[in-house]
Amino acid sequence: MRISKSFIPTLKEVPTDAVIPSHVLMLRAGLVRMLSAGIYSFLPVGYKMVKKVSDIIREEMDAIGGQEFHLPALNPKEIWEETGRVEAFGDTMFHLKNRDYVLAPTHEEIMTYHSKGVLKSYKDLPQIWYQIQTKFRNEARPRSGVIRGRQFLMKDSYSFDKSFEALDESYDLHDKAYRKIFERCGIDFFVVGASSGAMGGSKSEEFMVQSDAGEDTVAHCKTCGYAANVEVAKSVPAEVKSTGDKKEVYEIHTPNVKSIDELCEFLSIHEQETAKSRVYIVDDKPVLILMLGNDEVNETKLESVLGASVRPGHPEELKKITGADAGSIGPVGFTHRIIADERLKGLYNLFSGANKNDYHIGGIDLERDVTDIEFADLRTAETGEKCVRCGKEIDVFKAIELGHIFKLGTKYSEGLGANFLDESGIAKPLVMGSYGIGVERVLACYIEQNYDEKGIVWKKEFTPFDIQLLALNIKKDAVREVADKLYDDLGDKGYEVLYDDRVDAQAGFKFNDADLMGVPIQIVVGERNLKENKVEYKVRKTGERDLVAIDELYSKIEELTSNL
Ligand code: ATP
Ligand code: MG
Repeated sequence: MRISKSFIPTLKEVPTDAVIPSHVLMLRAGLVRMLSAGIYSFLPVGYKMVKKVSDIIREEMDAIGGQEFHLPALNPKEIWEETGRVEAFGDTMFHLKNRDYVLAPTHEEIMTYHSKGVLKSYKDLPQIWYQIQTKFRNEARPRSGVIRGRQFLMKDSYSFDKSFEALDESYDLHDKAYRKIFERCGIDFFVVGASSGAMGGSKSEEFMVQSDAGEDTVAHCKTCGYAANVEVAKSVPAEVKSTGDKKEVYEIHTPNVKSIDELCEFLSIHEQETAKSRVYIVDDKPVLILMLGNDEVNETKLESVLGASVRPGHPEELKKITGADAGSIGPVGFTHRIIADERLKGLYNLFSGANKNDYHIGGIDLERDVTDIEFADLRTAETGEKCVRCGKEIDVFKAIELGHIFKLGTKYSEGLGANFLDESGIAKPLVMGSYGIGVERVLACYIEQNYDEKGIVWKKEFTPFDIQLLALNIKKDAVREVADKLYDDLGDKGYEVLYDDRVDAQAGFKFNDADLMGVPIQIVVGERNLKENKVEYKVRKTGERDLVAIDELYSKIEELTSNL
């Protein structure tokens, strides 16, 4: 491809509304342009990469027996009403002025609709149907470029099976295919067990990449692969022990002491000698949650322990329930349910609020002094704590979801009445799975993991071009002749070459653009080196560069490519 004849609008400046590296670089390298918040146009080089990701996905989906579909984005709302998902998606779903239609945010309903009355017998199963198609979601905060678009490409597939055991197989096939897809796209990923949110179903796993641009926080153990969203992740924090002789409870006057830090300073004690209280309301009843020192309550874990949603008590409620304000509440004398974090188990001589403003209580042994106290894991895992599975250190970081595999079960087939006849002639709902990959997100996440201060760094298996050929001062006939011939010859040898043949661009400009665009190998044709019949090569990733005689160039490129 000749740059002089192509539309690759590279930008020198960092666009003001772009913050994360992939967003900045996709705009600067001329891969995409923004049309409106969360809506991006892919330009030729960007679209070339979208097609590359799509091709990899297609090959791996076909390899597990997937059959490619293309469903309409414009959907009758009626079908979505049958499964209750117009409500479930809420504002995220785009509705048209014509109230009978919606723009599809995913395609469970439509695929299930097509299976109905067609997959009639167990003999028709299993089936895997997939497509690479545009989805619409009115995301509340479309930032991070194509990572969170309001219109985006998804590979979505759906499996139809006769039983849950058979579904396990379709699910495993997808799991394996996904690993291959992300490996082939050069992505460093890990897998997290997840809850399946608005989709409904049983088991699901998310394929994630570490990135500061992520909106999920996960705990991950590099040693054994344990990974979980911090909302549910377990960890083994540093052990805490109480010291000294066990005391009886005693009241202490602590004027104006409200926070744990203030209490520690006032009494010259360590925060690990204190139990912090938080009052939540669940089903209109108060429950006191105790955490060690400054550990925060993980509300998702709390809700799963209680099996109900919670809200923090209001200041007036707290006063009414305990007789004290937030900074002076404690377990001794509290008459409702009390749950303490597991870290507090076995500790004694603890300090906590006295349920009386300006007073605290010391000498607390929770198991001795609080009747019916319960213990549960209520804290959030943190970096440096030990892995529950292997005991090595875990990391907690932000991550982006690249793909998701779900065992849906029969939610949609029951909802839409898609039944088949089993071996004994009994009608049963189809057992389904659904599996998604964000195509543009794969591209952006690759860039998040592969860039430097100069620009994108593509890998040889995952790049829009194999070679970027730069002709410096191309107005000189000698340069043009050699560069044109190299362009043709390299193309004949099967390389995809991006040829910077721009007449008016300065050398420095061409070098910067080549580094920005990130093609793995650069070949530079310049007047000075041509006098010795040489050109320069550069490996984008390492910066390695040298001169090479033109008649040795092809073997040099082969060598460089095999070492990349
Ligand atoms: P997220 O939590 O990031 O919003 P999701 O759970 O809504 O993702 P799914 O409904 O499972 O995502 O969709 C399947 C895949 O589609 C995701 O794994 C992701 O790669 C991609 N995807 C989802 N929403 C978007 C979006 N707004 N823009 C780009 N890709 C998206
Ligand atoms: Mg979402």
